[in-house]
Amino acid sequence: MQATMTGFLLLLLVMNSIMIFRLSDRKSTDIIKHLRNMAWGVAGIIVPEMVILLTKDRRIAYYAFTFYYIAFAWYGMMIFRFSVSYSGYQLFKVYKSPLFWITVIESGALICGMFSEQFFTITHVRWYNHIYWISRGFSIFYGYAIISGIALVGAIAILIIAATQSAKIYRLKYSGIAIILVMMAVSCVTSQIQHQPIWVQVVCFAFGEMVIVYMAVHYAPKKLNQRVMRFVADKLNDGIVLYDDEHQLQLVTAGYSDAVGFKGMQGISNEELYWSKVISEANVGNAWNGRVMSVARDDGAYYYEIQHMALNEDGKFIGIVYWIRNVTESIKSYGEMVHRANFDELTGIYNEAHFHEMARKLLEEHPDTDFVMTCSSIEKFRVFKELFGREKYNDYLIRTAEALRTGLVHIPNCVYGRIGESDFYIMMPKKVFDSQQLLDAIDEVAKVYSTNNFGLIIKAGVYEITEPSQDMLAICNKASMACDTIKGNYGKRILWFDESIQKESMRRERYNAELSKAIEHGEIQIYLQPQVDKEGKVIGAEALARWVHREDGLIPPAHFIPFFEMNGRITELDICIWRQACEKLKEWKEKGRDDLHISVNISAKDLYALDIYEHHVSLVKEYSIDARNLKLEITESAIINDLKQHVRLVEKLQEAGFEIEMDDFGSAYSSFNMLKDICVDVLKIDMKFLGDTENEDRSHAILKSIVDLSKELHMKTVAEGVETEEQLNFLKEVGCDIYQGYYFSKPMSVADFEAKYL
Ligand code: C2E
Ligand code: CA
Ligand code: CA
Repeated sequence: MQATMTGFLLLLLVMNSIMIFRLSDRKSTDIIKHLRNMAWGVAGIIVPEMVILLTKDRRIAYYAFTFYYIAFAWYGMMIFRFSVSYSGYQLFKVYKSPLFWITVIESGALICGMFSEQFFTITHVRWYNHIYWISRGFSIFYGYAIISGIALVGAIAILIIAATQSAKIYRLKYSGIAIILVMMAVSCVTSQIQHQPIWVQVVCFAFGEMVIVYMAVHYAPKKLNQRVMRFVADKLNDGIVLYDDEHQLQLVTAGYSDAVGFKGMQGISNEELYWSKVISEANVGNAWNGRVMSVARDDGAYYYEIQHMALNEDGKFIGIVYWIRNVTESIKSYGEMVHRANFDELTGIYNEAHFHEMARKLLEEHPDTDFVMTCSSIEKFRVFKELFGREKYNDYLIRTAEALRTGLVHIPNCVYGRIGESDFYIMMPKKVFDSQQLLDAIDEVAKVYSTNNFGLIIKAGVYEITEPSQDMLAICNKASMACDTIKGNYGKRILWFDESIQKESMRRERYNAELSKAIEHGEIQIYLQPQVDKEGKVIGAEALARWVHREDGLIPPAHFIPFFEMNGRITELDICIWRQACEKLKEWKEKGRDDLHISVNISAKDLYALDIYEHHVSLVKEYSIDARNLKLEITESAIINDLKQHVRLVEKLQEAGFEIEMDDFGSAYSSFNMLKDICVDVLKIDMKFLGDTENEDRSHAILKSIVDLSKELHMKTVAEGVETEEQLNFLKEVGCDIYQGYYFSKPMSVADFEAKYL
């Protein structure tokens, strides 16, 4: 039996040595170092035990026991050190050094006591019919036992604390080793109490050590890896589904049910078929393959990106893994992004870029169809916005877009969009374009927003696309040019683009380029139209701009003023006119004719571009003329744009001595209403009241009441556009103060005016 046991221990010793060898091979971490030391400790235990088993000599057996106990003490100390390191409890490190020195002292004491047998004695016992050496400690020996016991129990305690304090998934790492140490401790105690031969403990220690190494180096980290991976996989929002080689479901992560909306495993037991159906099997290789598929659910469309990979080991199929990701959010937000990029946010119809793109596509797809481009916009949309507010204006835009949507839904090959502030463009085949229908639709919308005071005027320019290859911007511009030409031409609300419009537009561009030079070269000149009082005496004139063009001859203001008003360059021109007027007034004054005045026009744009007050005060100062002789005509619509601000301006100008005339009074929407807020010196009555022969009686009645009212408010009245004697007589009758019109004279050059009236 002893021989068998020795052989067995020899085997354990060899295994232990291999383990030491393998551990030396590993990257030397603290833990590996401790495990290696422990393995050395085990070797130190096995060797004396083999001697004890084999020897009959009491002395040798005693010495072997001594070395056994020394090795045991070191082993205990190493287990303690290992536990401290393994658990990471730095706190216990302080015990390492005392324990070491105690072990050194113990070892020294054991060696010293070896010859005099001071600590223990050894005897033979019969155990299961065999005779073994066993030791019996004297009372002093208990000190040694207690110290070793403390080391072992301490190590166990550390591991148990670590196990209870760590996260569940780390528990196994500590608890497994703690259990082995407990088994070791129990084997020590029982063999001591029951006087068993010590090989029982030695076997227990050797095996225990191997298990600890296995647990610490192999099993626990691997298990831990798996657990952590599973943990991570379950935390993923994506679903992972794994099937084995027989297409049996092996793994479904928690994210799967969230991603796909199926609950639990049952819902998908046959899903592999389902997934493979959507992904052609032919694709399955070693690399990830996938696609996005959509699934209609009760609560809308869902999109999944499904990736899959066949798992092969040494060329043999071992399973297939699907990775299912819910990409609904990102697909939807991508969709929204595309929508935002292509559609007008307010109305939901195409924006400029997308309209151009779609119109271009349509032209290319139907090369044999004739198309028309229509641009529709509202006249004076700024006034409209001012008057009704942003909300109502937006409401108008939305309603128009809605009308387009419903009105054009049945028309094939038709695209439409909103471009800029208030323009709507429609492109459709010429043969389905119906101008009357367009007018009716326009009227329908306009009706909603027209009030007694304000008539919403919607107009449209149409361009027949004769050259589909030209730039889309150029096509749209032509429709827009036609639309812009309608300005003021209220009888006509649809205008087809033709060459004259193009020419007109090009001419404007030319004038725009030439304006500065024209001012510099004196091509912009004032023409004067006399103003006459009740006695027929010329009391002054209105200065009206003329462009004496070196190539085009005399250009009336209708050809350039509205355009310069639109692009803001009117101020440049007006300043030039005002200066000429001042110069004339100065000359006349020097000739003793300071009874004559000149009225100049101030555009709405000037009110914003200049400090009108400062400018005019310094003008009259510069020319040393009387402010009373330079009358300022501001149109009613310019004033209403920002009533509060302009009331103040008018007051200041009046304080400085200027007379303010409200031009075109009665042409806008709330003329009478405005008079309660603003106090001008003169009302210049719009000529439409005189020219209107259709409703003559009504016009006359209004004219009369304007004059009456102005008297009441202590304002003078000027009637412009007086063409006939009857008109003049009527005006005299109702009490109008001053008259201006072709009846007396057309606007004439300054030289002619001076020759005639000075
Ligand atoms: P407005 O200020 O209302 O000027 C009166 C317009 O009526 C002038 O046209 C004048 O020639 C015309 N007119 C005068 N008497 C009669 C008449 O008996 N019958 C008819 N049918 N028309 C008559 P004009 O000179 O073509 O000016 C047109 C508009 O251009 C002016 O209307 C004014 O708004 C603008 N304008 C002219 N000169 C200037 C200027 O220097 N600065 C600015 N900002 N605007 C100007
Ligand atoms: Ca005027
Ligand atoms: Ca006028």
